[in-house]
Amino acid sequence: MKTRSAIHKKIVFPKTRGYICLTAHPEGCKHNVKSQINEVLRTKLTSKIKNVLVIGSSTGYGLSSAITSLFGYDANVLGICFEKPASRDRTATAGYYNIAALHKFAESAGKNIRTINGDAYSKEIKHKTIDTLRNHYGKLDLIIYSLAAPKRKDPFSDYIYTSVIKPIGMRHTTKTIDLSNSKVINKEVEPATIMEIHETVKVMGGSDWELWINTLLEEDLINSNCRTLAYSYIGSKATEKIYRSGTIGAAKEELEKTAIYLNEKLQKQVNGNAWVCVNKALVTQASSAIPSIPLYLSLLFKILKIRDESCIEQILRLFNNHIATDKLPLLDNEKRIRLDDIELEPDVQQELLQRWGNVATENLHTLGDLDKFKNDFLKLFGFNISSIDYNKPVDINVDW
Ligand code: NAD
Repeated sequence: MKTRSAIHKKIVFPKTRGYICLTAHPEGCKHNVKSQINEVLRTKLTSKIKNVLVIGSSTGYGLSSAITSLFGYDANVLGICFEKPASRDRTATAGYYNIAALHKFAESAGKNIRTINGDAYSKEIKHKTIDTLRNHYGKLDLIIYSLAAPKRKDPFSDYIYTSVIKPIGMRHTTKTIDLSNSKVINKEVEPATIMEIHETVKVMGGSDWELWINTLLEEDLINSNCRTLAYSYIGSKATEKIYRSGTIGAAKEELEKTAIYLNEKLQKQVNGNAWVCVNKALVTQASSAIPSIPLYLSLLFKILKIRDESCIEQILRLFNNHIATDKLPLLDNEKRIRLDDIELEPDVQQELLQRWGNVATENLHTLGDLDKFKNDFLKLFGFNISSIDYNKPVDINVDW
C-alpha cells in the first residue's frame, strides 16, 4: 500500500473507556486473523465466485467475509475500510492491524487482496474503487455491504448525518452493564426526535448501498449472476425497544426494503440478486456500544454454551449454504436470509427473557457469562490471547 514506516517498538496494553478500547495490539490482531484463516482452511470449498468487493472489510462480519472469500473460495478480494494507522505513540486501530495481517498472510499464500482505506460513503472512494476494479479485477461476482458507522457525510450536500441508538415514541429504561465496575444498572434512554430517526436511517439504512450498486451498474462492473448482501439484525424481545423498534431498527427496515428494490433491479439488468442476511448478535466494536447488548450477550453465551457460533462460523455457514452455491438461498417471508435461527429458537429466548427479568449484579455470574463478553471484547483489539507476551515491546508501525 505505501512505503514502510520507521520501526517504533512499544509495550501495548489495553486502554479502555467504557465500551471502547483506545489501543490495539498488532501481534494479537495478527493472531485473530490467522485463527479465522485456519478455521476457513479446515473445509475445502469451491464456487464460481471470482471477484469480491467487501465494503467494511477490516473488522467483524466484513473481515470474516473477506477471509472466507479469499482463503475459502480463492476469490480476488477488494476491501474497503476506514481505519487509522499508528501515529507517534498511538497504536493503529485494530482494523488497520487486521488488514495488515490479512495482506501478509494472503501474500504468502499467493492470494489476491487489495484494500482501499477511506470513507466508503464518499464519491472519492467510490471513484477509487471503480479505477481499482477496472485496472486489477474486472466485473464483480459478489458485493458484501458490512458498514457500521456512527456518521455519514452526504456525498452531494456534505451535510454530516449522525446516527443515535434511541427508542422511538417513548422513553425506555433498559438493563445494561456498567463495564467499569461490572454492575447491572438501569439506563434510561430518551426517545429519538424525528430528525434523529431520519439521520440514523441516512447513516445505517440502505441509501449508500443503493448508491454503490447503482454506480457499479452504471460503470458496467457487475457480472451476470452477481449477488450482493447487506447484514442486518433483529434480536430478542429483551432488546427490542432499544434496537429493532428503535432508531437502528428503523434503519435496518429501510435497508431490508432497499434489498427488495435492488433485487428487482439486478434481476432485470444482470440476472443478479440482492438480499439482506440477518446475522446473530456477537461481540464487535459496533455491537458493544449498544446499551443492553453486552448484558444480552453475556446471558446468551451462558444459555447457548458451545452452540454459540463465532463470526467466522456464521459467515462460513452463509457462504457454504446460501451464497457460494448455484442454488437460490432459503428466504423468510420478508425475503431475508436468516442466520439468527439458533439465537431466536423459542426455548433459547424463553430462557433468556426469564434470566433478563431476574438478572442483577449479585447473580450476573450465575445467569450470564460476563467474563466471556469481556474476553471477546478485548480480543477484538488483540488482547487476552494466551500465546502473546504482552510485556514484550512490539512494532506499532505496521503497514500493508
Ligand atoms: P464492525 O464495527 O466490526 O465493522 C464495521 C466496518 O465498517 C469496519 O471494517 C470499518 O472500518 C468499516 N467502516 C465504518 N465506517 C466506514 C466508512 N465511513 N467508510 C469505510 N468503512 C467504514 O461492525 P459489525 O458488527 O461487523 O457490523 C457490520 C454489519 O453487520 C452492520 O450492518 C451490523 O448492523 C451488522 N450486524 C452486526 C451484528 C453484531 O452483533 N455485531 C449482528 C447482526 C448484523
